[in-house]
Amino acid sequence: QEEETLRPLDASKLTITRSAKTSKLPEDLKFVWGATFTDHMLIIHHSPTEGWLDPQIVPYGPLQLDPASACLHYAPALFEGMKAYRTDKPDSKPLLFRPDMNMARMKRSAARVRLPDFDGDELIKLIKKLIEVDQHMIPPPPHALYIRPTIPFFPTKPAAPAPALPIPNGESIAYTNGSSAEPSSSDEITYSAQFSPIALLATTSATRSWPGGVGEFKLAGNYAPCFAPQQKALAKGYQQNLWCLEGRISEAGQMNMFCVLKKGEGEVEVTTPRLDGTILPGVTRDSVLALLRAHAANSSGSDKLEAIPSDWKLTVSERDIELSELVTEARAGNLLEVFGTGTAAILCPVNRIGLEDGSPDLTTPSFSGGLGPVARGVYEKISSIQQGDVPGHQWTVEC
Ligand code: PMP
Repeated sequence: QEEETLRPLDASKLTITRSAKTSKLPEDLKFVWGATFTDHMLIIHHSPTEGWLDPQIVPYGPLQLDPASACLHYAPALFEGMKAYRTDKPDSKPLLFRPDMNMARMKRSAARVRLPDFDGDELIKLIKKLIEVDQHMIPPPPHALYIRPTIPFFPTKPAAPAPALPIPNGESIAYTNGSSAEPSSSDEITYSAQFSPIALLATTSATRSWPGGVGEFKLAGNYAPCFAPQQKALAKGYQQNLWCLEGRISEAGQMNMFCVLKKGEGEVEVTTPRLDGTILPGVTRDSVLALLRAHAANSSGSDKLEAIPSDWKLTVSERDIELSELVTEARAGNLLEVFGTGTAAILCPVNRIGLEDGSPDLTTPSFSGGLGPVARGVYEKISSIQQGDVPGHQWTVEC
């Protein structure tokens, strides 16, 4: 059936079934990543013949899945990661950070694996509703509520296993979009506790993405193939892989990667791999680049990133970064800072990079608090925007 004749996603059709329980946040605000969930979830079924059915907010709970579900076999599934912040202003609503960028990426991911398209503005309205219903689960700043929109492709009625590609095959297949939210914090989740720098293993024997592949999409299938290489890195004493592709550096685990290079007296380049189709276009990456560029253009005004010395002449670039360049610069003492960026950790410093050829690890200088001046300048600015300290900022959206 033509997509135009199917029902579009319509937030006004939302029904809400309240959960019998009202969870409390832990008093010590200590969360285990992926272990605490909100009381509700948002579910929207999609039928290939009808389109998007009425959205529902229901008590959080398991989904029923047919064993023939395509997502269990071929991984037509995608997800997004975004955060809602409670501000410390008494009358302010929770804030989302650049949700339009998550929606745009989600639509691109959906198109790549033939999941149904949807109106991103309608989904944002629904996510706001979910946040409103589960407001009590948003921890105070600097903590945040992590929201995970997902679209797995699975039949809600029994269906014969698809012999080949999971192409929509009539009534038997429905799409579901479940949004779950879990409390998380900027400094306690994943691998960036209190800005303790992490070590990366430059990995060339396995790759996360490749030219013509799907690295630029946030597809479920991109993640499991990284588990074994990450386990190898862990076994060698590194927390994450520094993915390398054809001699170029790519990403740091599940984060975009930034390097700060000393170029000359007072001249500093902040650089990140360019978006060549193999890199996930991170919302945080885009924001960090914009903040750095604004600082570089106007380092005396309100765009100044305070922690960056005023006498530094900063250039900001997106380009190919050869691993060999990183080795040369680090050995010459010009690798000033390395950090990863992503919604979960926001920013995670790296102080050591291992090489597969067994030569000594590359290191960066150590800094009190774990962050160098560029990382600190960027972190302070972006977190103040996310937490609503810059009222009316174009990147924050009230729920
Ligand atoms: N790269 C990968 C592979 C990721 O999974 C993520 C997390 N979404 C990122 C980078 C960072 O993207 P964002 O800043 O949008 O969270």
